[in-house]
Amino acid sequence: ALVIATSRMRRVLEVDLENERITVEPGVINSWVTRAVAGDGFYYAPDPSSQVACSIGGNVAENSGGVHCLKYGVTSNHVLAMEVVLPDGSITTLGGNLPEMDALDLRGVFIGSEGTLGIATAITLRLLRAPASVAVLLADFASMEAAGEAVRLITGAGVLPAGMEIMDNRCICAVNDFFGVDEYPRAAAAVLLVELDGHPLEVKESVQLAQELCRQAGAGGVREAWTPEERERLWKGRKSAISALGRQFPSYYLQDGVVPRTALPRVLAAIERLSEEHGLAVANVFHAGDGNLHPLILYRSDEPGVQERVTALGAAILRLCLEVGGSISGEHGVGSDKRCYMDWMFSPDDLDTMKLVRHAFDPDGLANPGKIFPTPKTCSESARRLVELKAEGQVLPAEVQVV
Ligand SMILES: Cc1cc2nc3c(=O)[nH]c(=O)nc-3n(C[C@H](O)[C@H](O)[C@H](O)COP(=O)(O)OP(=O)(O)OC[C@H]3O[C@@H](n4cnc5c(N)ncnc54)[C@H](O)[C@@H]3O)c2cc1C
Repeated sequence: ALVIATSRMRRVLEVDLENERITVEPGVINSWVTRAVAGDGFYYAPDPSSQVACSIGGNVAENSGGVHCLKYGVTSNHVLAMEVVLPDGSITTLGGNLPEMDALDLRGVFIGSEGTLGIATAITLRLLRAPASVAVLLADFASMEAAGEAVRLITGAGVLPAGMEIMDNRCICAVNDFFGVDEYPRAAAAVLLVELDGHPLEVKESVQLAQELCRQAGAGGVREAWTPEERERLWKGRKSAISALGRQFPSYYLQDGVVPRTALPRVLAAIERLSEEHGLAVANVFHAGDGNLHPLILYRSDEPGVQERVTALGAAILRLCLEVGGSISGEHGVGSDKRCYMDWMFSPDDLDTMKLVRHAFDPDGLANPGKIFPTPKTCSESARRLVELKAEGQVLPAEVQVV
């Protein structure tokens, strides 16, 4: 096997502010793009919570989303062109400098293909002008359902926030402990962060309406943050939630699924039930506006047999997402972790068609082999392990069928 790392390809190749675009190498870190143009009043919209560490190449491969993708769209909405090295060593360009190109749009095929079609070596991204006004609201609720109801009311009223994020009580306490200050109300079952941006008058009106709707949904309190420092303080906890939980629990399995946002309250209640059934704690922090769930299964890896229980709970959560019309991946992709669940969602014909597309780029299957597609060997091994677990009397998610 040959491992190719792009992490040292970290140059900004061209900044073209007049045409609102920037070309970077794939190892450039997501947050560096905004840093490179912020002084001129521009920014790069897709902002995964890992944005201080993840690369633009990785973002392209995973079609990453983030807090601001509710309003502004995910990576595929912000990539104009890519230079790509194909598995046979040839170099090609997908897309171009214009938003619409005449040729078949192969950008959309490549973005999100998880490195299975080739390697992006230069990427041209759209830049946006920083909004004139931004405000963040923090609302606390006595139940997760009430926080979900606030999301429903806000979107139902036609307000389109730049971002809408929910954290449960476990995350709230972990973050407060992490920073040694109770920035979020410690007793709340859930907090909802809503960011509104745009023209100052529009933002002022939306803030007022969103506040009223949060109260209507049962918010205990609603805080407003207008200055960059105040806003940063409210976001800091959300962006550090996973690290904060990592300090309390030595191991976690970060699951990623997506559900229609109207299904959020009942899905969260069902996750709570599954967590109790499996005897494993789950923390929830997620992009509520897009229905992207990130349940964190928390555990101690030295506990005998725990790994299998964690895997079984992760699978049950994904099954739940599918049952309500969602998907096995919200934004983190499939990789090797979830490939055995692909046939829960796609028929053999669907998978064969995807493989045909892959074959057109990579006939020998050289690029990232083992990712995305279920392989009979690995996936039947994991099915066998489920049979063994059942024989050992281990708890299995009711939805996972052992055949
Ligand atoms: C704490 C945390 C929070 C996260 N939050 C979010 C979030 O809010 N939204 C979200 O969408 N994701 C999130 N993620 C997932 C992850 O950050 C994203 O998927 C990110 O885009 C991965 O980038 P990376 O540089 O780490 O890629 P890597 O992990 O290095 O690579 C990911 C895949 O991309 C392939 N790849 C990398 N570079 C290239 C290239 N140049 N060409 C072709 N293929 C390539 C690799 O082979 C690999 O298969 C989070 C992850 C963590 C750990």
